[in-house]
Amino acid sequence: MSQDLKATIRAHIESHYPALYLITHEESDADTLVRELAEDRKIFEWNLASGLVNFENKQPLSKWCDLSDALANLLDQEFTRDSFIVIRDAHLGLRDQPVAVARLKALITKVLAEHEFSVTIFLVSSRSYIPPELEKFITLFDMPLPDEDMIRGIIREHVEAYGLEIDDTTLEKLTLAFQGLTRYEIGQLINRGYQQDGKIDLDDLDLVHAEKQQIIKKSGTLEMLTVREKLEDIGGLEKLKPWLKQKAAVMADWPAARAFGVEPPKGVMIVGMPGCGKSMTAKATATLFNLPLLKLDMGSLMGKYVGESEGNMRRALQVAEAVSPCVLWVDEVEKAFVGIGSGGNGSEVATRLFGYFLTWMQEKTKQVFVIATANDISALPPELLRKGRFDEIFYVDFPKEAERTEIFRVHLERRKKMNARIQLDRLAKATTHYSGADIESIVKEAIEQAFLDGRVPLDTERLLNIVKATHPLGEVMKDKVQDYKKRFESMKIKEAS
Ligand code: ATP
Repeated sequence: MSQDLKATIRAHIESHYPALYLITHEESDADTLVRELAEDRKIFEWNLASGLVNFENKQPLSKWCDLSDALANLLDQEFTRDSFIVIRDAHLGLRDQPVAVARLKALITKVLAEHEFSVTIFLVSSRSYIPPELEKFITLFDMPLPDEDMIRGIIREHVEAYGLEIDDTTLEKLTLAFQGLTRYEIGQLINRGYQQDGKIDLDDLDLVHAEKQQIIKKSGTLEMLTVREKLEDIGGLEKLKPWLKQKAAVMADWPAARAFGVEPPKGVMIVGMPGCGKSMTAKATATLFNLPLLKLDMGSLMGKYVGESEGNMRRALQVAEAVSPCVLWVDEVEKAFVGIGSGGNGSEVATRLFGYFLTWMQEKTKQVFVIATANDISALPPELLRKGRFDEIFYVDFPKEAERTEIFRVHLERRKKMNARIQLDRLAKATTHYSGADIESIVKEAIEQAFLDGRVPLDTERLLNIVKATHPLGEVMKDKVQDYKKRFESMKIKEAS
């Protein structure tokens, strides 16, 4: 348990904050914390499984009762000394339970009016759920997952308990791999590893990876993508590519880079025109870094309860940290943060989500390289674009002539259709305002036609005819594109090419 967190919570207790909400994956950690803070206070506890129980041995004190009855009981109590009230499974006990919410509010009011004794209510849960009526009374604390020192300690405890030994390299590698997991999960994995072969060694890393895959699947907000895109498959973006290569070199040799004083890479924001290679770059970066690619679905974070969306984001980011080192791709980042600061309920959630994301970006210590992609920069709050959040922000414009040559080449070669009859320079000249996606569909269409015409080789004329018959995105969305362009230029965002 971090001493800082304990000291902060103690300060809140001493300042008579009535209700503290502890988010924790490990109930036993919350118990230890409450016990340490209690000193000689009396502790009352309610949990969903057994009702009111003895805090120490968890034996029921009476017949099972729901939270609202337990709170009625506590409301009747005369407090005769300083006390703690622990409400476990708080999110289950309060969700859709208006009577329980009302009684908790009444109890908080009673606690606030109590001058002789200090009473603190702890709400303990694995996820945050704070009904709006209680928001102003409750302070939220997130109990962190074990840090490196604690993980080392947990491994050593198990090694000793099994009467084994462990060398420093294995200890360090396992410590890094176990990051992002709870104490319980780490213990379970070590036990399973030991049961497999009677050892605690690097073979157990496979188990750790499998466990992390499970966590991603269960999260519902993250997806692990299998990618095969390479940087060489992208035509153009000649300024963005070397920048990414530089970060890749740092990530690949991170322990040495850190020791030398290099700042940890945070990530990059890529904004710009649709179909011009932003998603492709995110995927190619994971290949370049040789790291797993996690995609965060912003839409799936939105929950209908207060605190639920932040809870989802918190868990998603914790999972990303658990899988670190990794690349975290946040696609269409503008969609999640739209309407920030404009008032109204949805915007409040967005504002808080955004605040959480920014703080995480600022403070993250794990090797999670973030790639945020966006089309509509006007919807993005300026704080996100401020320097220091991301290492760099790049603007991807429609490809220039030389880039279009490359994009044609890449797509023709990928499909093994490049030949001497194709003059790339003529194609590039004829495709001003065409996006990479437009060019790809021209190539695909040409191949299909050539097949239907008797499997003939492709030539420039066929491709040009299709170009003429195609309406490029840059023209279809002309006004919007002009508007984006002006904004990017006025904000002096670095061009990717
Ligand atoms: P959106 O904003 O619409 O999501 P995007 O910028 O993320 O668009 P991508 O999904 O990366 O665009 O591109 C769509 C397709 O267009 C890609 O699958 C790729 O084949 C092709 N493409 C786009 N830009 C390039 C490029 N520079 N080089 C090669 N192919 C490209």
